[in-house]
Amino acid sequence: WLNMFFFFFFFLQLSSLRRLVWIYSPKFWSEMILTLFYDSEISDTLLEGDMVISASKNALSCLNDYCRWPKSPSGWVEVPYSIANDFCESVIESAMKSIASKTCVRFVPRTNQVDYISIENLAGCSSSVGRSGGAQQLSLSMDGCINYGIIEHELLHSLGFHHEHTRTDRDKYIWINWQNIPEASANNFQIKDTNLNTPYDYNSIMHYGRTAFAIQSGLETIIPIPNPLVSIGQRQELSYTDIQRINMLYECGELITPM
Ligand SMILES: [Zn+2]
Repeated sequence: WLNMFFFFFFFLQLSSLRRLVWIYSPKFWSEMILTLFYDSEISDTLLEGDMVISASKNALSCLNDYCRWPKSPSGWVEVPYSIANDFCESVIESAMKSIASKTCVRFVPRTNQVDYISIENLAGCSSSVGRSGGAQQLSLSMDGCINYGIIEHELLHSLGFHHEHTRTDRDKYIWINWQNIPEASANNFQIKDTNLNTPYDYNSIMHYGRTAFAIQSGLETIIPIPNPLVSIGQRQELSYTDIQRINMLYECGELITPM
């Protein structure tokens, strides 16, 4: 039994050695950064990680009605917002300005509008999809969500957009590895119609990363096909197609002029 004890001890050493090698590998750090940014979106109470369940789930399925923000007489789509005092506003405002500079959407500080986005420091990063009526919370936790790309991602939810990996044609472009997805998270991969006749976009700021909702950290759940090496899950800037979709949904037409 002494032999068994030594064997156990040896095994313990081996696994901690492996862990040490893993911690010093660049892959560990890239996974770590991804985890920091993306896992913060995940919360049990929210659908698809960072989308608040609401009656009006999809601006694309309710064209011309309440889910879209209305056009003002000037032709701009004005989205009123308020920002809680906790924030340094500049990064939030620069994300808003970036969307405005490429589309006809204008985020305007709320005066007395009934429907508006209320940006608050709550748990996780989350938003309703489209206009939901009254004050709708857009949560940007100071603990992990104050990042330019994440803010743009949440703002796009508030304009009516779902995640790219849930498009109706997604099975032609990605393979969902259900084996690595816990049953409780399966709803995050449910298909929704958000295509707007645009091509599938791996580079969309609304695309989740390859380890999203994995049963165990580092396991892959979304694998691009046919080329598994295509990168997905960027949170840097709106893609060309992200911009195109906003302009289509809100019928921006000729109105797009750089601010
Ligand atoms: Zn999201």
